[in-house]
Amino acid sequence: MSPEVNYKAELVGVFGHPVAENPTIVMQEAGFRELGLNWRYLNIEVYPQDLAAAMQGLRAMNMQGINLTIPHKVEVLKYLDEVAGDAKLMGAVNTVRREGDRLIGENTDGKGFIRALRDDAQIDPAGQRVVILGAGGAARAIGVELALAQAAHITIVNRTVQRGQDLATLISENTPAQANFALWDGPYAVPSETNILVNATSIGLYPDITAKPELDYDTITAGMVVCDVIPNPPRTPFLQAAETRGARALDGLGMLVYQGAIAFKMWTGFDAPVEVMHRALAEVFNP
Ligand code: NDP
Repeated sequence: MSPEVNYKAELVGVFGHPVAENPTIVMQEAGFRELGLNWRYLNIEVYPQDLAAAMQGLRAMNMQGINLTIPHKVEVLKYLDEVAGDAKLMGAVNTVRREGDRLIGENTDGKGFIRALRDDAQIDPAGQRVVILGAGGAARAIGVELALAQAAHITIVNRTVQRGQDLATLISENTPAQANFALWDGPYAVPSETNILVNATSIGLYPDITAKPELDYDTITAGMVVCDVIPNPPRTPFLQAAETRGARALDGLGMLVYQGAIAFKMWTGFDAPVEVMHRALAEVFNP
């Protein structure tokens, strides 16, 4: 056997429950193929009570890393050697990478959003005034990363008071950004000084594809960048309404691809072939 022969694939994947319909595999494997990497991405069903054993298994099998999805993003923090500062602030990890024997927790969701803003809309978050609809996991990730990227002010709009207030307080007390909470109890009027408006709720996600956040859409103006986290379908009624008002739209498919591309780079060390990954995922959502 020649010394170059190496039949051992490097392994990454996702731990979740349920995990069968998670499409990240399609874009990651398209990326590995494009770069000729002998890497595999596996969707692994891990029940909540088995996460500790699964993390031990990851170490034992020398896997290069893992994504975490529902219900493991918070629980996994217990099993890591280190957690990146932003992920610690959010209290959630969606990506684990290795540094030698050490497992490091990261969160690439908000980073993916920031990269979409920078690369696709040419917007620097620094100094911007932002409104975020929602206060769940996606909103936390986006809010924290925008604040760490020097956004000037962030308004969290949510129908459940406690969750909304908690996120506004988290941002105000731990980052240089100012944040406030606004109760969402009717059509929300977007303040005219807003630069970036983000739907970080699950409204509009397949199969509920005609649903639209309850807003006074006349308050959206042409100077705003309007973003959605919904990747499927990417052209949501929310973004269509914003475009009708002349605003620039950024869809959730871009964010999803970039958060995967950032994990790809963390794991393999190579820049991800973003366009190939985007095409692969778009085909899944638009067969
Ligand atoms: P969570 O369940 O943690 O949070 C959902 C949020 O949406 C809550 O703030 C909830 O409000 C709000 N919400 C839901 N329905 C309504 C409604 N009818 N009216 C008003 N508010 C509503 O979910 P996640 O944050 O994890 O995910 C949200 C979306 O983000 C999902 O669709 C997911 O697919 C997407 N996502 C996209 C990513 C990407 O890369 N593109 C990455 C991660 C997530 P309340 O607190 O009052 O319940």
